[in-house]
Amino acid sequence: MAERLIVIGGDAAGMSAASQARRRRGRDDLEIVAFERGHFTSYSACGIPYWIGGLVPERDQLVARAPETFRDEYDIDVRLQHEVTAIDLDRREVVARDLAGGGEVRAGFDTLVYAVGATPRLPDWARSGVAGVFGVQTLDDGAALRDWLEAEPRPRRAVVVGGGYIGVEMAEALVQRGLDVTLVERGEQPMSTVDDDMAVLVAAAMRGVGIEIRTGVEVTGLTEQDGRVSAVVTDDGSLPADVVVLGLGVRPNTALAEAAGLPLGPSGGVQVDRRMRVLGVPGVWAAGDCVETLHRVSGLPVHVPLGTHANKQGRVAGINIGGGYATFPGVIGTAVTKVCELEVGRTGLRERDAHAAGFEFVSVVIESTNRAGYYPGARPMTVKLIAERPSGRLLGAQIVGWSEAAKRIDALAVALWNGMTVDDMTALDLGYAPPYAPVWDPVLVAARTAGVPGLAVATGPCSAEELRAAGAELVLDDLTGFPAALADVLRLALQE
Ligand SMILES: Cc1cc2nc3c(=O)[nH]c(=O)nc-3n(C[C@H](O)[C@H](O)[C@H](O)COP(=O)(O)OP(=O)(O)OC[C@H]3O[C@@H](n4cnc5c(N)ncnc54)[C@H](O)[C@@H]3O)c2cc1C
Repeated sequence: MAERLIVIGGDAAGMSAASQARRRRGRDDLEIVAFERGHFTSYSACGIPYWIGGLVPERDQLVARAPETFRDEYDIDVRLQHEVTAIDLDRREVVARDLAGGGEVRAGFDTLVYAVGATPRLPDWARSGVAGVFGVQTLDDGAALRDWLEAEPRPRRAVVVGGGYIGVEMAEALVQRGLDVTLVERGEQPMSTVDDDMAVLVAAAMRGVGIEIRTGVEVTGLTEQDGRVSAVVTDDGSLPADVVVLGLGVRPNTALAEAAGLPLGPSGGVQVDRRMRVLGVPGVWAAGDCVETLHRVSGLPVHVPLGTHANKQGRVAGINIGGGYATFPGVIGTAVTKVCELEVGRTGLRERDAHAAGFEFVSVVIESTNRAGYYPGARPMTVKLIAERPSGRLLGAQIVGWSEAAKRIDALAVALWNGMTVDDMTALDLGYAPPYAPVWDPVLVAARTAGVPGLAVATGPCSAEELRAAGAELVLDDLTGFPAALADVLRLALQE
């Protein structure tokens, strides 16, 4: 008799695991059943902002593989609109509610993949059920928001609550649909995935496309009129709203796991080993936004909910379930996004992460351009590097700029993954031609700058005096003879 694999969660992690397991084991050997509470499988949540904004015209373009494809081509029994409500490890079965037909289904398993993603953070005011308030966690959420935006009376004023990358992308999407958009963020800057000095640039670009940004403001409630949201109430007054989009961050979705006794780590995610086996629970695997993973730079367990990890982790779980061998080696937190034309990339640790992990470090910020200065379309690019002191090992990098900025972070991610120092990086053989970069690529200028003894410390969290005390060979106070961009950074550093 065939073994049975049950997958809970039919998106990136769950269906990657299911497909990989199927590739290695035929249906006579392994029966695969996937429970998904929504209407879709293998969809791109990452694409929701671009569908809402109108850049991607059709919802189904976001669906990589439909349930029928899994059924017909992969022999995977996909059960949509089935919400798993319990996992019984003793009886080795799951209990699911049939959301469409009603009733309850019990299904036994030999192997289980827990891939239920993340749960949006919702303060009490967001749970009040006021019509016109939306999260964008799943494609069903996105579809509900789109329906609201297209129904009469057409919303004109939108408030986005939360300035993480999803809030920023949604603010852009709503502006592109022609709405008046206000983004409310309780921190000092939106785009908290980068340090504040870089986030300022993002905020400026958002204002440039007409998004009103209210920072240092806490939402306390909502008001409604005629059964629809009419305003967002904050500790700094009321903001009229016909639609409210929530981007308050997520936490691992572990309710079922916790109830079943699966181990949770310090970050709140399910604990797994490198092969994505749940620690100490034979036959149970977990992957995606519901698990915690190792940060390869800080060495700490972290929850980094990104599609790039969910797909890889699901694949690793599926290969192992299929009888192969694969491991997930951890993350370094590389991510990219954009606000209209402004691109943002980050990898590794921000300053606050480096502090929290206990590193001594230096940081530099340089200004350059995406192309040779004389080449048409050359636009500013700002690169920030954070390097361990005194080793010079790269700990983190952030880039904000116009075209060709975001994906430059990949070169830095590879350097960081491989433990390179900023000195090693100055000699990197990166491509150059005027349409793509200045002769010194911004990445190289940043590495070179971070490698200048004295400069790095002066721009970092300690003073030139501390630098001397730490035995620096050179503390720069005369900028004569330095290239202009470098001298600017030095001047700024010395002023600080
Ligand atoms: C708007 C948005 C933009 C994003 N942009 C990016 C990006 O640009 N780059 C990037 O790397 N990542 C991005 N992400 C993150 C990325 O989408 C997620 O990391 C990825 O989808 C996680 O995959 P997952 O399979 O772990 O979880 P999910 O995609 O959340 O899938 C989990 C599935 O489990 C189902 N489920 C939950 N509970 C149950 C239950 N009890 N029973 C049955 N089914 C259940 C859910 O309905 C869901 O379909 C974005 C996310 C959002 C929301």
